[in-house]
Parts: sequence; C-alpha cells; structure tokens
Amino acid sequence: LVEITKVRKTFGPTEVLKGISLTVEPGGVAVIVGPSGSGKSTLLRTINHLEKVDAGFIAIDGELVGYRVKGNKLHELPERDILKQRTEIGMVFQNFNLFPHLTALENVTEAPVVAPRPGKPRRSQAEARARGLELLDRVGLRDRADAYPRQLSGGQQQRVAIARALALDPKILLFDEPTSALDPELVNEVLDVIRELAKSGTTLIIVTHEMGFARDVADTVVFMDQGQIVEQGKPQDIFTNPQEERTRSFFSKVI
Ligand code: ATP
Ligand code: MG
Repeated sequence: LVEITKVRKTFGPTEVLKGISLTVEPGGVAVIVGPSGSGKSTLLRTINHLEKVDAGFIAIDGELVGYRVKGNKLHELPERDILKQRTEIGMVFQNFNLFPHLTALENVTEAPVVAPRPGKPRRSQAEARARGLELLDRVGLRDRADAYPRQLSGGQQQRVAIARALALDPKILLFDEPTSALDPELVNEVLDVIRELAKSGTTLIIVTHEMGFARDVADTVVFMDQGQIVEQGKPQDIFTNPQEERTRSFFSKVI
C-alpha cells in the first residue's frame, strides 16, 4: 500500500507539488498523466526520496519513506537507511541508465549481489546469476544475457532496466516515461512487459504519455496539472467522461 499524503515541494520560488494525496492499493496500477512541467517526475522522485518533501509524507506498507517519528517530530533517516528503503522501491527512467561496461546479465545481478536487502539474506553470485537469467527470461531477453548495452536496441535496453529493477524484489515499481526515448516501433515491446507486470500483481506507478496503454493497464488514471491532482478515476470514467474542464482540454489534445 502506497500512501501519499498532502505532499508539497518547492524549488526556489515555485511550488511544484501543491499538496498531493494519492493512495495505491497493493497490486494496483496508477497511471499519472499531465502536461509538461505539471510535477509528475518530481512526484515520482519524492516516492523514493530522491527529492525531499517540504510538507506531507509518504508511506509504503505503513513505513514512512525517508523519515522516522521520534517524539512527535519527523527526523530524516540516515543515508544508509534511505538506500536500504530505496531497494524496495524500483525505478525505471526514460533513458535506461544501464551500466555501459556491464553485460545485460551483469546489469541485472549487480544490485542484488552488492546491495543488502532488508530482512533477506545476501544472494550468492550463483543465486544472483540464476535469478538474473530468470528475470531476463521474463522480459524476453535470456538469449541476450551476455550482450553489452551498446549491442542492444533501446527497447531491449529498457527491458534490461526493468529486469534490473525487479531484481531487488521491490514492493513497488515506478516508471517515468519508460518509452519516451524509444523509436515508435520499439514502444510496444516495452509496454507489453509492463502490461505483464501489471497482470502479475506488481504495484506500479507509471508516468506516461501513452494514453491507449494507460487505458489498458491502469486501475486509476491520475491527471496532474500545475502541481495538483485535478482529477482521478477509473480509465473508462476519466477518459470518456472527465469532470473537470482542464482534464477535458488535456485529453482532447493528446488522444
Ligand atoms: P515532463 O512531462 O516535461 O517530464 P513533469 O510533469 O515531469 O514534466 P517535473 O519534471 O516534475 O514535471 O517539473 C515540474 C516543475 O518543477 C518544472 O517547472 C520544473 O522546471 C521544476 N523543477 C523540477 N526539478 C527541479 C529542480 N531540481 N530544480 C528546480 N526546478 C525544478
Ligand atoms: Mg517528467
């Protein structure tokens, strides 16, 4: 369960998040849409504490992200604990961010061997390798395990990045425009992998401009504009019968 409560974030003079509240149930899929600059990426980045919130809080399965309560005050966690929390919150970015000097398999296995997983024993090299191959299989790339990123297409690289995010058994996965950097013919192979994750019950929060995909995969579509959630609802409701003028006007431009 992801609970985002009254989150605010300011950069300099600009309030970028103006009190965002959003709940995503276990196994739920929330798709966030909205115009450029509306705060979508910033919101995702607060969920794994890459950005500190200025007010409000975020909890995952009842555990505060980035903070603990002491007395009646919030204290930021030490860096080590923040890194530990981040292993439970997978994130996939627009630009894949694979390690160029590691093979596909090594990119996937690097984190679980190195990173301590809270409450779980560290994996041996052999275990990590077996699990890595299993994850590459899941994204349809077992036969490219030994390829380096530069030898892979953008779509394949992004699928490796998804396998890598899954390697830490995260409680939730965040996607920030995972197909925006891809040539159009490569978009679907990545969306298909995310569709499979959605079906398998992984909790997902996805920022995307792919409205057809949003309609297929989302339990909840969240429309953000100017740092606020303007409207949210089931795809069949919000796409066909948006309640707010801003939502209507946005969809009329992008669909
Ligand atoms: P896009 O669809 O273009 O990716 P977005 O909805 O993801 O847009 P954000 O990247 O969250 O929007 O940015 C929201 C606003 O916050 C923008 O006005 C942006 O310029 C500003 N912003 C984001 N990060 C920073 C930062 N580190 N410092 C200053 N301003 C920032
Ligand atoms: Mg963004």
